Amino acid sequence: MHRLFSVVMFADVAFPISSYQTFTYEIPGDFLPHIKIGVRVRAPLGRRIVQGIVVAKHKTAQYRGKIRPLAAIVDDQPVLDQGLWQLMQWISQYYLTPIGQVAKTALPKGLSTRYQPPTQWLVRFRAFPADRERMERRAPAQSKILKHLETREEPIPVSELGLLAASPLTVCRSLAEKGFVELFEEVRLPDVTGFTFDPVHKEILFSKIQKSILSDLISGLKAKSFQPFLLHGVTGSGKTEIYIELAQQALNQNRTVILLLPEISLTPQIAGRFRAVFGEAVALWHSKLSPAARAWTWKRICSGDFKVVIGARSAIFAPIKDLGLIVVDEEQEHTYKQESPAPRYHARDVALMRGKIHQATVVLASATPSLESYYNQNLGKLKYLHLPERFGGARYPHVHIVNMEQEQEESGKPGQVLSGLLLEKIEDRLTKKEQIILLQNRRGYAPILRCGDCGEIEMCPNCQVTLTYHRVGNNLRCHFCAFTRPSIPQQCRNCQSPNLKLFGVGTQKVEDLILETFPRARLARLDMDTAHSGTALTEILEQFARREIDILLGTQMIAKGLDFGNATLVGIINGDTGLFLPDFRSGERVFQLIYQAAGRAGRHRKPGEVVVQTYNPDNPVIKYATRLDVKKYYNIALSERQELNYPPFSWMVKVEFNGKKKTNVEQKATIVRRSLPRPYKGLEILGPAFCYRERLGGRYRMQIVFKSSKTVDPNGTKLHHYLRQNLGPEKLGRNRGGVNVFLDIDPYSLL
Ligand code: ADP
Ligand code: ZN
Ligand code: ZN
Repeated sequence: MHRLFSVVMFADVAFPISSYQTFTYEIPGDFLPHIKIGVRVRAPLGRRIVQGIVVAKHKTAQYRGKIRPLAAIVDDQPVLDQGLWQLMQWISQYYLTPIGQVAKTALPKGLSTRYQPPTQWLVRFRAFPADRERMERRAPAQSKILKHLETREEPIPVSELGLLAASPLTVCRSLAEKGFVELFEEVRLPDVTGFTFDPVHKEILFSKIQKSILSDLISGLKAKSFQPFLLHGVTGSGKTEIYIELAQQALNQNRTVILLLPEISLTPQIAGRFRAVFGEAVALWHSKLSPAARAWTWKRICSGDFKVVIGARSAIFAPIKDLGLIVVDEEQEHTYKQESPAPRYHARDVALMRGKIHQATVVLASATPSLESYYNQNLGKLKYLHLPERFGGARYPHVHIVNMEQEQEESGKPGQVLSGLLLEKIEDRLTKKEQIILLQNRRGYAPILRCGDCGEIEMCPNCQVTLTYHRVGNNLRCHFCAFTRPSIPQQCRNCQSPNLKLFGVGTQKVEDLILETFPRARLARLDMDTAHSGTALTEILEQFARREIDILLGTQMIAKGLDFGNATLVGIINGDTGLFLPDFRSGERVFQLIYQAAGRAGRHRKPGEVVVQTYNPDNPVIKYATRLDVKKYYNIALSERQELNYPPFSWMVKVEFNGKKKTNVEQKATIVRRSLPRPYKGLEILGPAFCYRERLGGRYRMQIVFKSSKTVDPNGTKLHHYLRQNLGPEKLGRNRGGVNVFLDIDPYSLL
């Protein structure tokens, strides 16, 4: 009877499974007030109960079969708004990834709007009983604890009393009942201030050119419509100060801000500057947060406690409300691209789409924009803003090129790593008490161990790459999988010769060489081996800021974002690293790295110098990077890309096949290739061919590459249609013969 009068409502729920489908459920009456779009629920799916997200609510069910009720509610408030849901659908479509898989990335496990930070019990001494001896006899544990507490003024955590009693909390409870101690529970808020330099308050007076750029950006923001910009500002031109001012304007409009940074090594300084202005309204979001800090931060983003979210790639999914501004700093960085698992999204492109959905201003910023953005700016798809000068008349550094081949001929020392000029400059800075940044984009000690007799090279047994010798730990390690050979072989595996030699240079070797020459220099090495935790990293950077370190040596981690006025010399030990990798982006990458690293020198009043060591001084990448000539190099690179029909002149998609058995991989790739219908005009299909890194983690890799020319396919829809028709999940079939197949839309690298 009752049912007749109550309204039955239905909810559509999306699940993180490999399917584009959503399922319909009945909403039990007592759930009704809590079920909103974006709330997570648990519901029966087959014989299991699975967590999903409510994506729609109806009065009538479309579905004609048996409809089951929802089992439970997970969230108190929606974790997605309409906009974020729309964004996830776009990602699912564009990156050809099931919506449930997208949800896994956008809403990672372990996050809940019901998260409560842990609590702890504290206890404080009040008084002894009148009859102390009686207590000692009848309740020795109570007595011991009371004695221990007597000497302490501050309350102490009950957990610290473990040595005095088997269950100290029970003992403290009895003591509290009798009034001998005070016992109370305290919430232990996770530390979310890590990864931040102490806030630095600065007086900012914008220059004329900064003002004019700000006024363009602010009018974009005021329009409250989608406004994409490319802010091309040389290193040290004040881009960060511009983000801060623009964020302030967004907050004044009661809107919020997401700032994406490519790496957490950049967060401490920039986060410190943001915290100085916005204080508690700033949240940090990245993978190095502790699980508690992560859960706590996320819950508070959902409940609207934060106005500014700063973070790495995944911060683009922050469930922040009333988004008005997204800034993508160093937008060319490869860390914005998720390589694995699917969705293999690019956070810059997702940022543009999120901006479009929320009618927000999106600022892509860099001193060395990606060729894609540079080209889009040429086409007028992005509004171009240029800051060609460093702030405050700080001069651009003077760059010296050292031709290492010539250097070694003259010095008669083949394999010499540090040139005379670089050593001379380092010595000079050490005497002047100025600081030095050295870039060697390779970690470990030496990347090659080779037999001096037969030439055999020690390779990773799982990957088609050499093993790198690590002085720290004295072992050989693969940088692509976890493989480690705990000791160095005594003889060649091929010819048994004991004549094994190390070749090549990693950060650890540079460290040794520098310390040999300058034993008293205070040097810190920053690479993936030393920066295992984010806090270790922040600490090294802070010491450098306090000038307790003279030389900061590291991989590309140190090349971007850092702003230290006393660092006046940057040395690039090997400017050629990566230059000859067979990938269409390798030149662009090397150019950007050299340019960015050079930009760390002489950022404030003291002028800077850069020494770039190279074997290829005439290579256009090296030549124009050292001349800091972005325009020249980009024009050359663009015309090369155009000639070969590479992005940004075409849409590119890679299909990768990988598996343990080489023949199975080859077979699968060949079958898929043969099944493809004739390409339309303007579509080029390359391969299948083995990848440059033919084997990684024990799996052989092949790829087929699709390039769809923008002249015939301006929006990429033709290629998408072709892929959907011919390479959809049902066409690729199940993972037979242990071969995985996946699509990578807009791949970053073809290595
Ligand atoms: P970018 O992000 O473009 O590399 P920054 O924003 O870090 O440049 O600016 C370089 C330095 O100049 C920083 O120390 C910054 O605080 C300072 N600076 C930039 N613009 C101003 C300004 N208008 N007033 C005061 N200091 C400024
Ligand atoms: Zn040998
Ligand atoms: Zn390996």
